[in-house]
Amino acid sequence: MSTLEIRDLHVSVETKEGPKPILRGVDLTVNSGETHAIMGPNGSGKSTLAYSLAGHPKYEITSGTVLLDGEDVLAMSVDERARAGMFLAMQYPVEVPGVSVSNFLRTAKTAIDGEAPPLRSWVKDVRGAMDNLRMDASFAERSVNEGFSGGEKKRHEILQMELLKPRFAILDETDSGLDVDALRIVSEGVNRVRETTDVGMLLITHYTRILRYIKPDFVHVFVDGKIAEQGGPELADRLENEGYDRFLPAGTSA
Ligand code: ADP
Ligand code: MG
Ligand code: MG
Repeated sequence: MSTLEIRDLHVSVETKEGPKPILRGVDLTVNSGETHAIMGPNGSGKSTLAYSLAGHPKYEITSGTVLLDGEDVLAMSVDERARAGMFLAMQYPVEVPGVSVSNFLRTAKTAIDGEAPPLRSWVKDVRGAMDNLRMDASFAERSVNEGFSGGEKKRHEILQMELLKPRFAILDETDSGLDVDALRIVSEGVNRVRETTDVGMLLITHYTRILRYIKPDFVHVFVDGKIAEQGGPELADRLENEGYDRFLPAGTSA
């Protein structure tokens, strides 16, 4: 079993006016096999948490620790984080012109495992995962994220996760911009990874609708850069009915 442990994390983002504090003491422990939903109003710092875990250079860790089985994640390069088994699907994935999906996936798999996957089984795995996500075979030859629709980007993220088999996955707004059919297909992909591996998952979302398909074990409500409340799946039901208003200063609304 593995554990991802975030302790008293404070993060500032680089702005023109100087560093702006966003995360104000995040404490969170994710064990293998657990799915934690991070919910909260827009601007509460959810993506900042994801970028910080990803090692994005714009986000400065001002204090706190992130440990993966006791190893200091914050001291690792982005590549080292991936090799340690962390998977970070970003809310706005970057384009990689000239690199096909197929080559990108194989390069990533090789980098993480330290050796190239056997070609035959790899090709079979990629086809199987793409079929599961209802992706046309021609998709594998397209440039990464170039001209991808919102739904294609999300499917590509889940395809990566299925093939790279991470120890911990951080999915930021995987449900944004998906119609109901695409949301179901993407959610089924996430659930397949949960069922067939021991992945620990941080599922970041503003809306409750993806949680109808992916049942979290724990729900954390993020407000103003830290966790304001935590509970089980019933907390998501409550948020669906009541929204975030009770977490916000009087007179404002999410
Ligand atoms: P969420 O994902 O919960 O909507 P974010 O983490 O994206 O929230 O943003 C949290 C706060 O940090 C917001 O007030 C946002 O405007 C600010 N912020 C995030 N990134 C930047 C940035 N690169 N420059 C300036 N402000 C930023
Ligand atoms: Mg966000
Ligand atoms: Mg499992």
